[in-house]
Amino acid sequence: MKKEALLYEGKAKQLFSTDDSDVVWVEYLNQATALNGAKKDQIAGKGELNNQITSLIFSYLHEVGIDNHFIKQLSKTEQIIRSVEIIPLEVVVRNVAAGSFSKRLAITEGTPLKFPIVEFYFKNDDLDDPMVTEDHIKVLEIASEAEIAALRKMALEVNEALKKLFTEINIQLIDFKLEFGRTANGDILLADEVSPDTCRLWDLATNDHLDKDIYRRDLGDIIPVYQEVFNRLNQRKGA
Ligand code: UDP
Repeated sequence: MKKEALLYEGKAKQLFSTDDSDVVWVEYLNQATALNGAKKDQIAGKGELNNQITSLIFSYLHEVGIDNHFIKQLSKTEQIIRSVEIIPLEVVVRNVAAGSFSKRLAITEGTPLKFPIVEFYFKNDDLDDPMVTEDHIKVLEIASEAEIAALRKMALEVNEALKKLFTEINIQLIDFKLEFGRTANGDILLADEVSPDTCRLWDLATNDHLDKDIYRRDLGDIIPVYQEVFNRLNQRKGA
């Protein structure tokens, strides 16, 4: 496999084409951003931790039968994935009130929700990623009704699988964000990353934040915390 041209540079990753048109080469970067890029820092070691954590999680999702774009980890900061056309939606699943949900609806962070809920946000930096309803998604032709139903179903399946995984390592899965893509034949595949950048993870015993809220809220250094998540996932794998 040969790495070729830079296809896309995001806030935390670079994507390169390869000599196989179905395969994309991903390099995880050390950049951390929050507030739609208004807060930005280079944090040594972040790229390797997120690449390794995402690789472990996507492999686990494969093992439990959830299709996703991951092919294999190449190095500490690199992985290869199947090429998909990303659907410009952030699909958020929440088990416990936190973050924007708590703020908007004045519900104390940490309040368990009666059932997992799914929210959609339109991925558009100029608009600040607004929340959208299913009608908005249809009228803007971002996805069809059948695709929206499939996204909801897959997001809730991922939630069940991840809740089980994180409970095993004494972590409570509060909420997370997923992205999906379309393959060349139109199938929808889980894509992007699942890491402490994209999930809220609280220690089951202490409720300590083990995620990007440490950075967003200036609570300290994210590296030891991301390392702790990686170590726990790794130990589980070795168990
Ligand atoms: N999230 C993300 N990328 C985003 C926005 C949110 O990965 O651009 C994740 C975030 O880490 C959290 C979940 O989605 O796990 C819900 O985030 P929320 O809507 O509460 O937004 P925030 O409080 O981060 O602004």
